[in-house]
Amino acid sequence: MSLQARLVASYVVVVALALAAAGAYAIRKIEQRYTRTYTLSLETQARLIAEALRPHLLARRDFRAVEQLAKAYEWRRGAYVGVRDPSGVKPHLGPGQPPPPPEVVQATRGQVASAQRWDEWTQEVRIFAAAPVLEGSRLLGVVHVSAPRLWLDRQLQQVWWAFAAAGALALAVGAFLGLRITRSVTRPLRELERGAQAISRGEYGRQVPVRGADEVGRLAEAFNRMAEQLAHTIDRIREERNRLEAVLSSLKDAVVAIGPRGEVLLANRSATELLGVPPDALGRPLREVVRVPALVALLEQAARGHDQSEELNLAAGKVVEVTCSPIRGDHEPAGAVAVVRDVTELRRSERLRRELVANVSHELRTPLTSIKGFVETLLAGALRDEQNSRRFLEIIEAETNRLTKLVDDLLELSRLESKGVTFRLQPVDLAELCRAVVGRQQPRAERMGVRLGCSAEPAVVSADPDRVEQVVTNLVDNALKFTPEGGSIHVRVRRHGPEAWVSVEDTGRGIPPDDLPHVFERFYRADRSRTRASGGSGLGLAIAKHLVEMQGGRIWAESQPGRGSVFSFAFPLLPQAAHNSAEDKSLTKKIEFS
Ligand code: ADP
Repeated sequence: MSLQARLVASYVVVVALALAAAGAYAIRKIEQRYTRTYTLSLETQARLIAEALRPHLLARRDFRAVEQLAKAYEWRRGAYVGVRDPSGVKPHLGPGQPPPPPEVVQATRGQVASAQRWDEWTQEVRIFAAAPVLEGSRLLGVVHVSAPRLWLDRQLQQVWWAFAAAGALALAVGAFLGLRITRSVTRPLRELERGAQAISRGEYGRQVPVRGADEVGRLAEAFNRMAEQLAHTIDRIREERNRLEAVLSSLKDAVVAIGPRGEVLLANRSATELLGVPPDALGRPLREVVRVPALVALLEQAARGHDQSEELNLAAGKVVEVTCSPIRGDHEPAGAVAVVRDVTELRRSERLRRELVANVSHELRTPLTSIKGFVETLLAGALRDEQNSRRFLEIIEAETNRLTKLVDDLLELSRLESKGVTFRLQPVDLAELCRAVVGRQQPRAERMGVRLGCSAEPAVVSADPDRVEQVVTNLVDNALKFTPEGGSIHVRVRRHGPEAWVSVEDTGRGIPPDDLPHVFERFYRADRSRTRASGGSGLGLAIAKHLVEMQGGRIWAESQPGRGSVFSFAFPLLPQAAHNSAEDKSLTKKIEFS
């Protein structure tokens, strides 16, 4: 039931109760008044009839005849007028008649009297009045009149109807006024209700109109202030949350927080990337969304109040450092938060550095031991044997050269890795460049009994010519090293789609398939004993790979053991315009050569 309906109902009830109380009182009074008036009029009637009959009784006329006369005064059907003798009886009826009623008895004493009672004769309630017929102080008889009470009731009934109509009207007016008045109360309340509902839908700061300065008006004012405050607070919270979210999502470390029941409270973007936590993880049980049992265990332990930190190996070779701390609630731990850092790269570079140090010391030790050995032999007396000492010194020189090359290569590699090398990129025709390298290596190839050839179509790329030359030289050098006498080496330059490809093919011993993927790693040698003898440091291809990749190219190797190897690299071709101008340049150079 709405408030308005209740208010109107209570209005109507109050009006009805007031009407009932007033009505009950008024009706009682009216009834008394009416009865009294009616009785008085009956008494007056009796008195007048007594006056009219007096001459007839005085003349001592026959009682029956007087009674007859009296009947003529019956003013209406149902009214009764009778005459009795001074003793109060009807003489013509003789003995055996009932005793005279009280009002008649009182009239025989000279007073006008009245009464109301049940009448056996007519079987109804009637109102009686009796008046003495007096001649001076002599009682001549008594006039007795009566009328049905019903007549009075009928008149009263009309009054009741009027009352009922007035009551109904009052109720209707009450209800109408109630509606109007209560609307002024319930309307602002309804507006408040709508405002509250809007806020619960998220329209914070929704205002309601303030009507008047009464309690409801003040309530509306307070509501508006509250809504404003709420909007302000929510804005602040939202801002803080956004800031926190921005910070969390820009963190490279994965952050996962759980609540006291092990449900996920927070997981940032890195948690999705590093741990595979689904984006809809919020509120779900930790075990369901984090598939790393060790991490789950650490978080759960932390949630019991103990700090945890550990390094974990994830699937896919990832290494992470996990730090878990309990979130402290007011009394007991309210969950835990884990910060997971990806240390795969860090650990890998640490491992590489360790390996490098081990490799470098190993590489340095071998020639140094050899040098030391020969120097000691020389000092021990071999110096006197001129032939041997010359041989020893030659070996020492070769080892020293190897050491120097090793140190040079190492320095070069470290410069490349620390990006301390600048490339002067410019349009370079790879065909021209390769022909020049082949030309320079030709005498050496001839000495070694290896055929060295070149076929090249113009291919202009953007690169540092010195650095590309260094790569080609290195590849041709390797090919020469690993191709026995009678073999052949061919350098090929061609355009392949959007790229220029340079490949150095040899008919040497080739590289076993197991070694092939590793040849570009530093210090990697496919066949240690033989390659060391050839004086290689195992760094040449690593340097070549760095050089190519740092200029935007790629490098790869194919090989069939026993039949030969192909080392290739590719650079993106320059667009036509640059291409043409480079071609012009190469043309002018050729002319100069010729
Ligand atoms: P190195 O200075 O020892 O030649 P590289 O990095 O240039 O070192 O080469 C690494 C290894 O790759 C060599 O030791 C060799 O085993 C193998 N390799 C390189 N080029 C060839 C080739 N053309 N034929 C066969 N093996 C090769």
